[in-house]
Amino acid sequence: MSALTNLDQIVSCITGYDPEALPVDKALEVIDGLCAPVVEGLATERVAVREALGRILAQDLVSPIDVPSHDNAAMDGFAFDGSLLANAGEQVRLTVAGEAFAGRLFEGVCPPGSCIRIMTGAVMPKGCDTVIPQEFTERQGEEVVFLSRAVRQGDNRRLAGEDLTKGKAALGAGRMIRPADLGLAASLGYAELSVRRRLRVAFFSTGDELRSVGEPLDAGCVYDSNRYTIFGMLSQIGVDLVDMGVIPDDPQSLEQAFRQAASSADAIVTSGGVSVGEADFIKAMMSKLGDVTFWRIAMRPGRPMAFGRIWSGERVGQGDSAVLFGLPGNPVAVMVTFYIFVRHGLLTMMGAPNEQSMPMSAISDERIPKKPGRTEYRRGQLFVGADGRTFVRTTGGQGSGILRSMSDANCLVVLGHQTSVIEKGEPVMVLPFDGLV
Ligand code: AMP
Ligand code: MG
Repeated sequence: MSALTNLDQIVSCITGYDPEALPVDKALEVIDGLCAPVVEGLATERVAVREALGRILAQDLVSPIDVPSHDNAAMDGFAFDGSLLANAGEQVRLTVAGEAFAGRLFEGVCPPGSCIRIMTGAVMPKGCDTVIPQEFTERQGEEVVFLSRAVRQGDNRRLAGEDLTKGKAALGAGRMIRPADLGLAASLGYAELSVRRRLRVAFFSTGDELRSVGEPLDAGCVYDSNRYTIFGMLSQIGVDLVDMGVIPDDPQSLEQAFRQAASSADAIVTSGGVSVGEADFIKAMMSKLGDVTFWRIAMRPGRPMAFGRIWSGERVGQGDSAVLFGLPGNPVAVMVTFYIFVRHGLLTMMGAPNEQSMPMSAISDERIPKKPGRTEYRRGQLFVGADGRTFVRTTGGQGSGILRSMSDANCLVVLGHQTSVIEKGEPVMVLPFDGLV
C-alpha cells in the first residue's frame, strides 16, 4: 500500500482533539485522514457494464457522442418551420409532405408551407424546428389545420446533446454505479466501465462468551450476532468479505487473528474487546502491531472504539497493513458505529467519499430528552402523516444491546452534539436506512 500517514500526524492537525471525549465529527476527520490516501493504491479493472452495478467508477465517463445525437420530436404530431408562426393568422394550414418515424428519417427538406408527420423520437426533418402535437390538429385531406397560439417556435423538440454533451463527463469518478448509470453508460455505447478494485474487508467477533449459531448455548453465553449484522452491512457497501469467525479473549489467538487479517485485507472490522475492562491487553498488543488509538467517543450508543492501522509482521511497519475499526461489543452500538464511522471510512478508502448517506429532516412525533455534549442516535421509524408531512417516532427499548428496536427501525434519529431536548412537533435530523445501500 502507498505511503502512509500516521495517526499522530493526523491528530496534530485537529484542534480540540481529545481521545477521551471525542466529538463524532472529530473522529470522522481522523478517519478521513487515514482512509483517504488508500484509494491511490487501489487498482482499477474493466468490467462489463452490468457487472459495474454497485461498483465505484474509477475515471470520469466521458461522452463520446451527443445524446440525443440529433434534434428529435418529443411528441407525436407534425413538424414544421416555427418561424412561420410570426406571420401566421389565427389559424395555420400546412400540407403534409411526408413522414418521419423513430429510426426512419424523412429524407430531404420540408418544403415551405408544408409539415411532416412525425413520431416521438424521430429525427427532426431539415427545415423544421417545431412540433405541433397531434391532439391540437385537425386533418383535412392532405392538410393539417391548427391554431397558431397552440404552439411556439421550438416547442416539443429535444435538442441534440441536451441529455449528454459530447466530450463532457457524463458520470464522475468516485460514483457508485446505480441502475440509471447502467442505462446512461449504455446510451453512450459503452460496453465496459473502468471501476476500482473491490476492497477486501476481514471481520471477526471477540469474546469468550460468544457461541456461533449451530453450537449449544452454554450457561452465561450468547450467540454471536455481530458477525451477522456486520456481514449484512458490509455486503450492502459491496466489498469482498473475509469472515474470520469468533476469536476468544486470549492474547495469542487475538494477535494471530489481527496479523492474519492485516495480511489478507485492506480493512478489518472487529467487535468487542475495546471497552474499559477489556482493552488493556488489546492496547498492549496494538502498540506492538499497530498505530492504533483508543477512543471514548462523545456519542451514544457506541462510546468505545479503536481505530488505526495494523501490520501483519512482528511489529509496526512490517509486512502488509490494513485499517482497523475496532467496534464496541453491544449489538446496537456495533450497527451505529458501523453506519457512522466504518461506512464512512470504507467509502473514503474506495474513492467514493461523496456516497455518504444523506440526512433528512422529519418532525418528531414525541418529546425526546437528551444530554448535551454528545451525539445520540435513536432508532426511529419514519412515516408520512395524514397531512403529507414526514414524521419520525422512536421504536421502543433503546438499550445498546436491544437489536429488536433496531430491526423495527427504518432510520436513525440523530440528536446533535449540542442539542438538549427535542420537543414533540420539532424538526429532527434522521438518517434513513434505505440511503445506506
Ligand atoms: P464487550 O465490548 O466485548 O465488553 O461487549 C459488550 C457486550 O456486548 C457484552 O454483553 C457482550 O456479550 C456483547 N457482545 C459482544 N460481542 C458480541 C457479539 N459478537 N454478538 C452479540 N453480543 C456481543
Ligand atoms: Mg468482550
